[in-house]
Amino acid sequence: MREVYIYNTLSRKKELFKPVTPSMVGLYVCGPTVYGDAHLGHARPAVTFDVLVRLFRHLGYKVRYVRNITDVGHLEHDSDSGEDKIAKKARIEQLEPMEIVQTYTIRFHDAMRRLNTCPPSIEPRASGHIIEQIALVQKILDAGFAYISNGSVYFDVETYNRKHHYGALSGRNLDDTLSNTRSLDGQEDKHSPFDFALWKKASKEHIMRWPSPWSDGFPGWHLECSAMSEKYLGEEFDIHGGGMDLMFPHHECELAQNTASRGKGGVRYWMHNNMITINGQKMGKSLGNFITLDELFNGTNKLLEQAYSPMTIRFFILQAHYRSTLDFSNEALQAAEKGMKRMLQAAADLKNLKAANKPEEASEEIKAMEENVYAALCDDLNTPVALSHLFDAVKIINNAKEGKRSISAKDKEILDSLFTTVLTDILGIMDENFSNSAGEKKVIEGLMDIVLQERAKAKAEKDWAKSDFIRDSLKELGIYVKDTKEGAEWSL
Ligand code: ZN
Repeated sequence: MREVYIYNTLSRKKELFKPVTPSMVGLYVCGPTVYGDAHLGHARPAVTFDVLVRLFRHLGYKVRYVRNITDVGHLEHDSDSGEDKIAKKARIEQLEPMEIVQTYTIRFHDAMRRLNTCPPSIEPRASGHIIEQIALVQKILDAGFAYISNGSVYFDVETYNRKHHYGALSGRNLDDTLSNTRSLDGQEDKHSPFDFALWKKASKEHIMRWPSPWSDGFPGWHLECSAMSEKYLGEEFDIHGGGMDLMFPHHECELAQNTASRGKGGVRYWMHNNMITINGQKMGKSLGNFITLDELFNGTNKLLEQAYSPMTIRFFILQAHYRSTLDFSNEALQAAEKGMKRMLQAAADLKNLKAANKPEEASEEIKAMEENVYAALCDDLNTPVALSHLFDAVKIINNAKEGKRSISAKDKEILDSLFTTVLTDILGIMDENFSNSAGEKKVIEGLMDIVLQERAKAKAEKDWAKSDFIRDSLKELGIYVKDTKEGAEWSL
């Protein structure tokens, strides 16, 4: 199996990937809090970790991909004193919290499907794992790293930090930070401003609540990911992913909870994708530059000059390395759209190119190109380098098309597999003239081969009525057949 290198946020270096269980990858990615539409910020981790899953599967690994749905416990402010985001939306819109959850979960799934991301193997919800979370709180209490205060349970960060390093993941030092922290304003329940809620006692008006040994309440946001990753992936698993904005406090707290309850961090590789900026600015509702995925797909946002297809968004994301920031602008998206179309056109043209009568051996240039594409993907998911090699392939195809060079049958085979396997299967870029499913695309191409062979046979037999009938019937379906010297070509 080809070696894969991953940048580990915890060790701050690229490491050779060694799974806990041979040829099996356990991956946990923090999913959305479902109280609003999926936006540009959701697209990047979704596409990044989708490509990681596809790459591992291509390399022969079995992947258990767990992505949670946060449907309780994500509070409005970091301070843990705020209101649950879903409960707040439910109160304002006078809906059951689970109506909010259902509405936005469906919309999230729809956006993810349009981006051609594989669904996770397991998609656990926080509200469906209250028992596991209560058990985890008890374990942390028993280990002496939490305390009960007025019906709520808090993680005792200072006690934990005496034995372990709170801040190991995000590179913080608690002692440095403690000295310049504001005092506890109105949060008397906590011993220290760093302590975070494992369990919150629900106020009278709080709708989402469950009984626990400490109070009727609800779990803290960080808790669900520790509980559900352990439940589905075990005490130690391979990769924990998410956006860089989750590194602190969310993942830092998860790491502390894992260590406090199991005596070890439980995650071999922490992977974080960098953020998307908009015209150089951080995206935020308060900044007025917030763009949902639906708005992007439909072009309905004042910042957009046009609609951008899901595949354009996907291609745009893959043109940057996941650890670099990615700046969104109309110009950048239009360039991505143009580049992607050029690549898909070349992939289609390749099928109609006639291979030269040269030795069957593949050329060194094409063999090196194939090797470089896979090496880039296995080098910490370097998709921009992989795409740049595919653009070199586009140049070769275009030169061959213009008669400036020839390619052997073996070269053609390798190039074709690069587009089919790498562009379509691993990078997940589909020709949008087709449906979004790779399987359907293969079926359509296969059927068209059969139909055009039948038409060629009819022409050879001078059965003009039949060949015209096939051509005209296809035209009615929006499929155009063009006769060339090499045979018939078709397009939508
Ligand atoms: Zn999480």
